[in-house]
Amino acid sequence: MATRSLWQKLLAAVYPERCACCRKAVPCGMLVCRDCRAALPVIAPPLCPFCGAAKADCTCRARRRTTERIVAPFYYEGKARQAVRNLKFQNHPDAAEFLYTAMAETVRREYGGIRFDAVIPVPVSAATLRRRGYNQSALLAGGVAKSLGVPMEESLIKTGDVPPQRELPAYRRSGNVFGVFDRAERAALEGKTLLLVDDISTTGATLEECAKMLKIYGAQEVYAAAAAVSRLSKETK
Ligand SMILES: [Zn+2]
Ligand SMILES: [Zn+2]
Repeated sequence: MATRSLWQKLLAAVYPERCACCRKAVPCGMLVCRDCRAALPVIAPPLCPFCGAAKADCTCRARRRTTERIVAPFYYEGKARQAVRNLKFQNHPDAAEFLYTAMAETVRREYGGIRFDAVIPVPVSAATLRRRGYNQSALLAGGVAKSLGVPMEESLIKTGDVPPQRELPAYRRSGNVFGVFDRAERAALEGKTLLLVDDISTTGATLEECAKMLKIYGAQEVYAAAAAVSRLSKETK
């Protein structure tokens, strides 16, 4: 159960909180209904450091990446897919709490010994931000940062309004889609150990691009966390 203030409890009496996955009304602070919780596609450790899948399920052939490792609590399937889609496409920002709570648990378990200087969300374009009203990855990053007791820094920007990754031919995917704000932001990355947060990782391409950019500006190490990763390398985003 997530903790709730008296005000939140009163509010929930009028507007019931909803399951992050199926949107059924749930008791205040429960985040996910019992049926959905039982059906979550949890990734069981040990994890592959390169794709975040359970080692038993990994098909990535251990390709070395710019990110030190990637971890996620769930596969992008079933109930976890529902929750991510509610957050990302159905205008339910409240679904973030369930996902970032699970992410924070996984980060603690897998990255326990690492002292992060900041948590950085993968950015969305200005047009997406206008349309959606929020950056879903920033909601997740903010929750994880709070749980770890470190700041969230929105250091990255998505430059230009390019179509979603899947519509881009391979040669354009390595284009300079992400950038870093300004000189102050760049200076703040120097020598830092960062936790980069995205909602979903399918091929890991977006996290790679962001990690490269952070390293260009002097980040020492970039670890990644997503709410969900694909079990196979096929495109499902
Ligand atoms: Zn449910
Ligand atoms: Zn793997």
